[in-house]
Amino acid sequence: MLDYDVIVCGAGPSGATTAARAARAGLRVALLEKQVLPRHKPCGGGMPIQVETWLRDWLPETSFKAVVEAQVRQLCHTWNFGEVHWGSVNLPESPRDLSLSMVQRPHFDNALARQAVDCGARLRDGLTVRSIERDARGVTVRASTTGDRRETFTARARWLVGADGANGIAAKAASLRQRRRLAIAMEVELPYDWSLSGGDLRPDVAHLEYGAVRRGYAWIFPKGESLNVGAGVFHPPQGGRGSHRRLREELERAIFGYFDRFALEVDRSALKFYAHPLPLWKGKEPRHSSDGRVLLVGDAAGLVNPFFGDGILHGIKSGIIAADCLAEGCPESYTRRLHGEVAANFNAARWLAAFFYRFPHWSYRHVVQRRDGTHIAARLLAGDLQFSEIVGKFVGYVGQKTVRGAISGLGAPLGLKR
Ligand SMILES: Cc1cc2nc3c(=O)[nH]c(=O)nc-3n(C[C@H](O)[C@H](O)[C@H](O)COP(=O)(O)OP(=O)(O)OC[C@H]3O[C@@H](n4cnc5c(N)ncnc54)[C@H](O)[C@@H]3O)c2cc1C
Repeated sequence: MLDYDVIVCGAGPSGATTAARAARAGLRVALLEKQVLPRHKPCGGGMPIQVETWLRDWLPETSFKAVVEAQVRQLCHTWNFGEVHWGSVNLPESPRDLSLSMVQRPHFDNALARQAVDCGARLRDGLTVRSIERDARGVTVRASTTGDRRETFTARARWLVGADGANGIAAKAASLRQRRRLAIAMEVELPYDWSLSGGDLRPDVAHLEYGAVRRGYAWIFPKGESLNVGAGVFHPPQGGRGSHRRLREELERAIFGYFDRFALEVDRSALKFYAHPLPLWKGKEPRHSSDGRVLLVGDAAGLVNPFFGDGILHGIKSGIIAADCLAEGCPESYTRRLHGEVAANFNAARWLAAFFYRFPHWSYRHVVQRRDGTHIAARLLAGDLQFSEIVGKFVGYVGQKTVRGAISGLGAPLGLKR
């Protein structure tokens, strides 16, 4: 039986970061991934440039730059694909240059996993973790390969880090995250030739559409030789097959709306759509097992930003914190340290999201279309500005706009329906 200090289950950004950081600290690490790398992960692949800072310790700058296919500095916002509102990520008075980095997840994740190996982790891909058993001295992990020649693998470790995403098994094995809040998003990657491009489709522009889906948004993210087109909702309908089918149709309609807007010639019947849940932050809760043997990171820990729906940066941050706790031999401090990093900000983001997506048209007119709206959003994404810093001002702003609207006889904006 193989013996490690840490077994990391899942080689997405959270797992690879945990493995690299723990291995760099001198721990014996196994990184297990059920798919063969590089693998597809349903994702827009957009993230704030600050991700690079969080990876800097172990990922060479050149490796990061090699996988970033586009840098976005402008956002093109629409409501129901109508008139365009342009927003700049940076304003002339901005103290520092912000941008959004666009990656293809197969390449990005693969680069992180390979770097974890260079840091000393042992990577096994094509190996699915089937069971995790805890005892007083550690964990026993049983895994097996997929395919015809099924090989089994059993290993022991002092700790297991669950980095196995939204549908993983680690949280269940540790009796954690029993009540989750899931958003749903769908995307498709379209090959695109920029030399034929004109108008508003540009490699430095991302597109966001707010009216086409209920309580969510649709997007186009530019990549090196493709466009990632997607749509997601923060409050998917609860119910049976019928509601899932209707949701799928709604998301597809929003994606097709972009095809029509930009006259993209696509064989729609041949498209491969990828849909996936996003486990949203819903407040403080234990993110490690009571015996300190299992720690959850990234999507497995429910760390998707409830306002934007991004999870890569937070997965990476949680991986670093988890690895540091293990290297210091104090897994019991993990939840507290993680919450210290994200809880106040995400609680405020959740509060703002409840308002924003409940009154999307009002929010589009008064928040997105503000001169500094895009810049503030970019700073929030980057962690340059905290949601918790703007909640108070936002409440005042809504009050001011509402009173003005009522006085000028335009009706109470908060009563506006989509
Ligand atoms: C359509 C869509 C668009 C999105 N767009 C963005 C975006 O633009 N920017 C952003 O920041 N976030 C985005 N997200 C969220 C983002 O994709 C996730 O937050 C992020 O992937 C979380 O990383 P992770 O490492 O925690 O989990 P994952 O990336 O899901 O990695 C988990 C890994 O664990 C493996 N695994 C699962 N079970 C097992 C097992 N039993 N044994 C071994 N391995 C296992 C999986 O194969 C997978 O490779 C989007 C999500 C969706 C669905």
